Parts: sequence; structure tokens; C-alpha cells
Amino acid sequence: MSELSLAYIFQHQQLLVDANYQLPKVEKLASDLSFHAGDQVIARDLGLEEAIPEGFQLVPIRHLITLWPAAQFLQASRAVQLLEWRRNHKFCSHCGHETQVHSTEYAMVCPACNYHQYPRVQPCIITVITRGQDELLLAKNAKTQTNMYGLIAGFVEVGETLEEAVRRETLEEVGLHVNNIQYLSSQPWPFPSNLMLAFKAEYVSGEIVLQEDEISDAQFFKFNQLPEIPFAGSIAHAMIEHIIHHTDMPQ
Ligand SMILES: [Zn+2]
Repeated sequence: MSELSLAYIFQHQQLLVDANYQLPKVEKLASDLSFHAGDQVIARDLGLEEAIPEGFQLVPIRHLITLWPAAQFLQASRAVQLLEWRRNHKFCSHCGHETQVHSTEYAMVCPACNYHQYPRVQPCIITVITRGQDELLLAKNAKTQTNMYGLIAGFVEVGETLEEAVRRETLEEVGLHVNNIQYLSSQPWPFPSNLMLAFKAEYVSGEIVLQEDEISDAQFFKFNQLPEIPFAGSIAHAMIEHIIHHTDMPQ
């Protein structure tokens, strides 16, 4: 009799859990994604046509960040990214032949030309901008319907340093110049496969001019008069707490 594995089972970015948000235990299949040789934790896709087992539910992975310990959320986040990468690399991007899963590495290998495709992360900067001793900049995303104000963020472009990305995104999104850019911490963010690199920076000059297709409002808020901010567990929340209350950033 084989031992059961704890399973991260995804359908899109939703994860199968029981009523208490615990993972199911399943018999391991050859097609499952393993985390480490010999351990009993696997990840697998749940096909759209497959039934949801009795007593289980699909929960969006982002809801679990507030319910699970950080280490477990990180493992789930890794699982969903690796499955998505595997699903999107079924063919060789060099010669078009069907690929195979590498037996020991996270790689998709082409049996025809031996090209190896590895998972990629997208570096993304996120910046908390302060003005004086008691104000920080928060911006409302134009694409969300909520009243939540977040931080300036965006993808790092090819050939750009992280600091240049901070300056460019700030200028593009809100028309401001910043300096004293300092690295704080990082967080993998599986929506879809980003590595969030957190910075703080200080306002230098400029009036707020919104990039209207991205940002619907942006303002400097007094520390004691903040609007609704991102939820605990997100790096944006930790950054705002760090600036206002000098709490440690997660390492
Ligand atoms: Zn090939």
C-alpha cells in the first residue's frame, strides 16, 4: 500500500481545500509535480471536467495568504507557478517538438534538439514613496472596483536596473521624481509569476499627474489619515507598516 501525499490541487488559480482550508491527501501519480525527492507533498492540475470531491471546495489562492502560515502560502505559490509553467511549455520553443518533464530538475526538455526550458520569474518593483516625515504616496489602481489604495508597482524592463525601474514607474504612473532609493525586501507573487522587489524612496519634485489608464487617483496621505490599504500578508502592507511603525520587513 502506498503512502498518501498531501496535494496542492489547482484549477486555474484556485486551490482545492476542505472546509477547514486543509489540503487533500491523495495517491501519487506519475504526472504529479513533486517538490523534493522523497517528500510527500505534490501538486497537480484538476481538469475542468473533473468533479470536486465531496467535502472539498475551490478557494482562490490569494484568499489563503491571510489564512495560512507564510511558509505554506509560499509553497502553494510555488506549486501554482510551476504547474502553470509546465502547462505552457509542452512544446519546444526552439524547434516545436513536444517536450518531456526532466526527471530531477524543474526543466522541460526537448528530445529532438535537447533545448532545456526553465521556469522564469518576472521581476517587478514596488515602491513606497515618502514626503517629509509623515506622508506617503498611495495610488488607486484604475482596473479595480474597490476603494483600496496601493503602492506604485510595475515590471522591470529588459536592460534596466531595479532603481531605474523605480524611477521610471514613478514618473510614468504619477509624474513624480524620487531619490534615495533603498531596497527593503522581496516576495514571490504568483499572479501569475512575479517576484516583487520592495523599495522605499523619497519624493524630490513634481506635481502628481496620473497615468489614467493605470491609476484613477494618487495622493500623499498623512500617516494617521490613511485610506483602505492592501491586506496583511501582502508585501505592500508590510512596507507601509515598516515606514509608519518601523516594523521589520519579512526576510
Ligand atoms: Zn527542440
